[in-house]
Amino acid sequence: MASITIHLEKCTGCTLCVKACPFGAIHMSEKKAVIDMALCTLCGACVTACRFSAIELEKAGGPKKDLSAYKDVWVFCEQKKGVVQSISYELLGEGRKLADKLGVKLCAVLLGEGLDAVAEGLGERGADKVYYVSHPALKAYQDDPYSEVLARLVEEYKPEVLLCGATTIGRSLISRVAIKADAGLTADCTALDIDPRERLLLQTRPAFGGNIMATITAPNHRPQMATVRHKVMKEAPVEKGRKTEVIKKDYPEEAYASRTRLLEMVEELGATVNLSEADIIVAGGRGMGGKEGFVLIEDLAKVLGGAVGASRSAVDADWISYAHQVGQTGKTVVPKIYFACGISGQIQHLIGMQSSKIIVAVNKDPEAPIFRVATYGIVGDVNEIVPAITREFKRVLNK
Ligand SMILES: Cc1cc2nc3c(=O)[nH]c(=O)nc-3n(C[C@H](O)[C@H](O)[C@H](O)COP(=O)(O)OP(=O)(O)OC[C@H]3O[C@@H](n4cnc5c(N)ncnc54)[C@H](O)[C@@H]3O)c2cc1C
Repeated sequence: MASITIHLEKCTGCTLCVKACPFGAIHMSEKKAVIDMALCTLCGACVTACRFSAIELEKAGGPKKDLSAYKDVWVFCEQKKGVVQSISYELLGEGRKLADKLGVKLCAVLLGEGLDAVAEGLGERGADKVYYVSHPALKAYQDDPYSEVLARLVEEYKPEVLLCGATTIGRSLISRVAIKADAGLTADCTALDIDPRERLLLQTRPAFGGNIMATITAPNHRPQMATVRHKVMKEAPVEKGRKTEVIKKDYPEEAYASRTRLLEMVEELGATVNLSEADIIVAGGRGMGGKEGFVLIEDLAKVLGGAVGASRSAVDADWISYAHQVGQTGKTVVPKIYFACGISGQIQHLIGMQSSKIIVAVNKDPEAPIFRVATYGIVGDVNEIVPAITREFKRVLNK
């Protein structure tokens, strides 16, 4: 257990710690600070505030790790039905830059069953080494065996940096591994870099609703772990015929144990186009007025061969499923064309789509913030404008 101690001989009774404590856990008694352990969360704010080094926080975790034993940049390569997901190639592209800056190897981790050829193929995307574990329990993603096997690999080979996609699977997996590895984790990064002097991973992500960008480091723990949003980094180019070293590992049967059983994978009906991969997205918001309004969105998407997106308001109103949500708590998308129909353009939505190449906004309010990021803006009623656009594309495309 972590513990906190006040060195009374150093405490001057200045009360800085009382003011700094966000939990009201410190009071003064006879001009000395006293901590109420029922309220203290061991956050360390008082330690930072104290100018007299009178408060000491001892972290749990036994002997300190030898950080110098950790090397190489690892990318967890997510696969579905044996197909490596494009986010993994994006991470290999970024991982290459980081590994070169650190002067270490770029390594991929692949978990699955019978994927030897896929493991070899990761060399063509820049992996110098591939750690590959094949077992029936790893065929499709399951929390327990995936996190246990990845944690064992980390424990044995000690990567300096471990990257994972901020996908549904990635988020579920990597938080479990971070706990097992006693490491920190920066979620949803949009940029990564290296501080070459300290060999620290600089992990940048939006904070406070996207109003500021925070750069986070993990100086005291290894590996330095981050999840990265889809579509914010460039895929590693294919280098045909590039070889890699595959390290095929196996573990005792208990490593693959699971408290849950995967009965069946069911594809979501209607989500036929993967939003994150789509070149054209037609998205609707509260301004579509209801489920029937989304029929107009679907019609336009169909004519253009695009995917349907939505704001959180539309998802919360149950007009469309969460799989379609774009934004801070939904998907990040970078299509060639993004239609925003009846979407006001709040920052949490913009975070997920503002890097689209062309943004077409339809809104009846000329002051709507979406027009500030739009390439083309149409002020008007979505019930008239969207069907008119659909009709025109149908005519032009002969559909
Ligand atoms: C922590 C957090 C995370 C969030 N994550 C997300 C997220 O991932 N994605 C997301 O989208 N939001 C997210 N939100 C919510 C976000 O703040 C907004 O509330 C939401 O994006 C608004 O959705 P909207 O634009 O559809 O609705 P509104 O803001 O209500 O806008 C509706 C727009 O439609 C227009 N309109 C109305 N009728 C018509 C019509 N007939 N014709 C044309 N225009 C019309 C209006 O002028 C208005 O501009 C999050 C919020 C928080 C606090």
